[in-house]
Amino acid sequence: MIELIINNQEVNVKVARINAGEFGSNCWLVADEATSESVVIDPSPEIDVIKRALDARGVTVKYILLTHGHFDHMTSCDTLRDLTGAPLAVHRADADCLTNAYLNANRIFMDENLTYRPAEILLDDGDTLSFGSLSVKVIHTPGHTKGSCCFMIGDALFTGDTLFDGSVGRCDLPGGDINEMKRSLARIASLDGDFKIYTGHGSNTTLEKQKLYNPYL
Ligand SMILES: [Zn+2]
Ligand SMILES: [Zn+2]
Repeated sequence: MIELIINNQEVNVKVARINAGEFGSNCWLVADEATSESVVIDPSPEIDVIKRALDARGVTVKYILLTHGHFDHMTSCDTLRDLTGAPLAVHRADADCLTNAYLNANRIFMDENLTYRPAEILLDDGDTLSFGSLSVKVIHTPGHTKGSCCFMIGDALFTGDTLFDGSVGRCDLPGGDINEMKRSLARIASLDGDFKIYTGHGSNTTLEKQKLYNPYL
């Protein structure tokens, strides 16, 4: 099932939630309407679900982005690379999560050994990746993991497991750090203007709303 969340004509951004994989991790498809170039953020569903979403919109994938290196956000990161030829990008501090089932938490939660091919692109804070007429700005927000990032595209902010509607991600898994999380949340709260927030789990929200009622922000 595919749910179209917004169709923002002003900035030609289309954001679709490709319904989550078995762990409830959101997968986002962001497409530039003019060129049909897109990025997929956190390929958590099975590959045929993602393929249907891409085919339905006739978009090509330029980048596959991971908000962080947990297994429930990257179910199809190898098969989607095979399907599209697009490179996978993750913050360099989470690079080892792809190849280490302890760091990606699969061993901890499932007692399994899921690993993936290394990422083609290692991200740093402030990096930008362009697709069509749009660009993704990387904001490094460690705390949930060392390499957790938020991705800013226009007025949309994809927060992964850093910021949820009314809550924040846990800091007790490998690489987690509550003090880094506090600094990252302060940085998000200090962003200029309002943002539509698309989270790693649960519903979308806005930065203004979170500043009002999220006790962690
Ligand atoms: Zn996570
Ligand atoms: Zn998660």
